[in-house]
Amino acid sequence: MLTIEGLDLLYGDAQALDDVSLDVPEGAVTAIIGANGAGKTSLIRTVSGILRPARGSIRFEGREIAGLPSHTVCDLGIGQVAEGRQVFPTMTVRENLEMGAVIPRARERAKANLERMLVLFPRLGERLRQAAGTLSGGEQQMLAIGRCLMGEPRVILFDEPSLGLAPAVVQELFRIIKRLRDEGMTIVLVEQNVAASLHLAATAHVLEQGRIVLSGTGPELLDNPKVQEAYLGL
Ligand code: ATP
Repeated sequence: MLTIEGLDLLYGDAQALDDVSLDVPEGAVTAIIGANGAGKTSLIRTVSGILRPARGSIRFEGREIAGLPSHTVCDLGIGQVAEGRQVFPTMTVRENLEMGAVIPRARERAKANLERMLVLFPRLGERLRQAAGTLSGGEQQMLAIGRCLMGEPRVILFDEPSLGLAPAVVQELFRIIKRLRDEGMTIVLVEQNVAASLHLAATAHVLEQGRIVLSGTGPELLDNPKVQEAYLGL
């Protein structure tokens, strides 16, 4: 569904992505793991159009999208849940969700999608008139996901969604990601919680210093001694 080939990203002289190629299959989770500074966020931001690659191709459903502006990438159906729970703090929960539906592809179905979000995230339904900035960290993360879903993405790029959340909330978050996957969503998941993300992943890739050094199925990487030592603390 999404095919990345030979992607290079530079920050000035520093190369953050070096010849990255990978496939994101439809209806499955693709996990990206790697240490701090490996280039995971850079990869997500390049796919979503926030950063422009120096070289390489990103094809989404056969169309070249590398270098397109982020709003165009979003309109085409690639949604992003950015690191750090990016909600609009002074707007209400309802307004935040409605903001997710302003893109043309989803506007007409905003009302029905809002109802769907309240089923998926019942706690948001109880807080529709509350300012988003007063929600707990976990609730803000759910709201960020709900806002992304309001845009009816075909692919969701998650960047460290569990960062800074309490263990019980992390479990809930992984249940939601699993549910989205089971409903057929295509997901790219960057997660420090490596074991949980490999358990969900059909395919996974290890990034080191901007290069993919290892790829395999989720179970293969869970069993890989290098992954176990470097990322699973075994
Ligand atoms: P983390 O998990 O710590 O966020 P990451 O794997 O997501 O790490 P990136 O944030 O993509 O890594 O960073 C990759 C490399 O690019 C790092 O060496 C980082 O210092 C560098 N980098 C990131 N953003 C910039 C920037 N705006 N300007 C210059 N260098 C940057």
